[in-house]
Amino acid sequence: MKEIRKFINGFKNFRDEYYFRENSPFLELQKHQNPSTMVIACSDSRTDPSLILQCEPGEIFVVRNIANIVPPYEPDSKHHGVSSALEYAVKFLKVQNIMILGHSSCGGIKSLMENKISDEDEFISMWLSILSSVRDKVFAQYPTLSVEACTACEMAGILHSMNNLLSFPWVAEQVKNGNLEIHGWYFDLKDGQLLSYNDESHLFEPLTLSYLNVKG
Ligand SMILES: [Zn+2]
Repeated sequence: MKEIRKFINGFKNFRDEYYFRENSPFLELQKHQNPSTMVIACSDSRTDPSLILQCEPGEIFVVRNIANIVPPYEPDSKHHGVSSALEYAVKFLKVQNIMILGHSSCGGIKSLMENKISDEDEFISMWLSILSSVRDKVFAQYPTLSVEACTACEMAGILHSMNNLLSFPWVAEQVKNGNLEIHGWYFDLKDGQLLSYNDESHLFEPLTLSYLNVKG
């Protein structure tokens, strides 16, 4: 209950100091939203994209799930939370960027790599199985379960989700027309570093390196 009281006090503080402040972004945002970017991040409590990227309300349209996965395009009668958010972002909000934001020490990826018996849970293993081919490829390269293998899987999982994005025809069309860019980012919790996938080098490279160099 102590935590709940903390959240209520947090909201009071937000309302007084932010919502009702002079030039509050909510003067506009109470009517509509117009985010430029969709972020697909992990549900992990340490990787809130608004905090990490220091976004103001209204800037990013966010979906979070276990291991920041985009499922493949499967138009059937099942319930597709991520795909419906993606559809809304692309068709109706017309975002210009989609970012897959992965991270280090991901419990979802660790569980996938450990290949835990699926009858221990009802939904998690099935969800993570979207990345089972990624896990198999990583184990072909790293024969034992290690931090390095998990890191490789976390990064390869981002690339797999980027590819899955393109399996949605209306995403592929917007990318082809130059109206939409797809980015793969990786938050390294250990070093406080943000990496981005570079299409040319095929590596995740630090985005903040030049800044850090300047700071010495
Ligand atoms: Zn995670």
